[in-house]
Amino acid sequence: MNIILLGPPGAGKGTAAKEICKLYNLFPFYAGDLLRERMSKTDDFAKYIREIINNGALLPNDAINKMVEEFLTSDTNIENIKNNGILFDGYPRTIEQATFLEKLLSDNNQKIDKVLYLYIDDAKIIKRIVARRIDKNTGNIYNLISNPPPPNVKTEDLYQRDDDKEYIIKNRLNIYKKMTEPLIDFYNKRHLVSEVDGSKEVQEMFCDINEILK
Ligand code: AMP
Repeated sequence: MNIILLGPPGAGKGTAAKEICKLYNLFPFYAGDLLRERMSKTDDFAKYIREIINNGALLPNDAINKMVEEFLTSDTNIENIKNNGILFDGYPRTIEQATFLEKLLSDNNQKIDKVLYLYIDDAKIIKRIVARRIDKNTGNIYNLISNPPPPNVKTEDLYQRDDDKEYIIKNRLNIYKKMTEPLIDFYNKRHLVSEVDGSKEVQEMFCDINEILK
């Protein structure tokens, strides 16, 4: 089973992705994590990625498509995908990327089986993202209001992503609406989309996802 998680930043994709991958034994593909890992290097390309991400913009299609292709077609990864299926979070984000992915998968005798569209309104997104914190040791995502870290997690181990500041979130939302939202129609035409209410509490949202995937 190959799944795409679609939805605005802050809709709960990251949290849902971790749970789904665990339960359905899917191979995770987190576009943002791949880019953050690449930008932690010290070369010019890393600097270029950092500037784009910190402004809330999107990496050009060619650049991200190339990285995705390299990642997905490596021997171990393609085997994992063929055996277990894959979950895409944060990719594709444009029609051009979706078209590229469709071809890449079909070249490897694969296809997308389901697109989970997590919807949530803008005001809730902003409230949720500014309270988002990540544990630097585990990568676990918390929300200071709705999903606070357990007592054993130290405050100094939590960090806020640079692109989670309010003025950058607004830019990311505008770009999402312009570039990524058209994908809902793209995948609706292929009868792949199921809608999920991203404003629900994590467990409740995950129950809804489970119902769909069952
Ligand atoms: P995310 O962690 O998915 O919110 O991604 C963080 C940032 O990485 C985004 O705001 C973009 O700047 C960049 N990014 C992630 N995925 C893509 C993509 N598919 N295409 C272009 N840029 C991306």
